[in-house]
Amino acid sequence: MIEQLQISDLSFTLRRSERRKTIGITVDRDGSLILRAPFECPDEQLERAVKEKLLWTYTKLAEKKLLFRPTRPKKFIDGEGFHYLGESYRLLLIDPQSTRNSTLPLKLQDGWFMLRSNERPRAEQHFEAWYTQQARDWLRMRAARFVARVDVQPRSMDVRSLGFRWGSCSPTGYLNFHWRIILLPPEIIDYIIVHELVHLREAHHSLEFWRRVERIIPDYLQRKKWLSENGCKV
Ligand SMILES: [Zn+2]
Repeated sequence: MIEQLQISDLSFTLRRSERRKTIGITVDRDGSLILRAPFECPDEQLERAVKEKLLWTYTKLAEKKLLFRPTRPKKFIDGEGFHYLGESYRLLLIDPQSTRNSTLPLKLQDGWFMLRSNERPRAEQHFEAWYTQQARDWLRMRAARFVARVDVQPRSMDVRSLGFRWGSCSPTGYLNFHWRIILLPPEIIDYIIVHELVHLREAHHSLEFWRRVERIIPDYLQRKKWLSENGCKV
């Protein structure tokens, strides 16, 4: 049984030891977080220690490029580019009166993101809702095949806002994906899905973990590299 501690949106693997006198956090080369603590250390004390070092932890993770930094805020003006499945589409503000049969505040049509101009103050929410829906549909479609190949049975899979992470996996089998995955190219989304599914078999980024990922995605290294270099730019 691996003890996991979930704080903010980060998951720490807890390693207790008789010899240890202090609490310390290590960020592994692959980005996994390890919390070392004295054997009898109470949970509240652990939580406090982690919360004090959250900023440090995020900085370390960002240095390793496993997190994406939020991009420049969007302005929601005509011609601005928005990503979807690795492509960029421009925004067109449309007059709500002139559009026939469209009650949707936002849609992707004929290669344009069309936003009703009167909905512009809520543009950010509309985009997030639209992306979340697309990500759910995509995930449902793509995950089925990988679930069979990894041979796992996730308790649930959902799409939400996950702070700075693309995906997360709880030891009890709940997988979550950031809605922003849908901005990425399909082959990168596949890599993120497989990565989280394999975590249901291997909690850590061990040799065996990567071997399993590779069996399903032979060129996973390239995709991993692409994600760490470009993921923050979408
Ligand atoms: Zn991982």
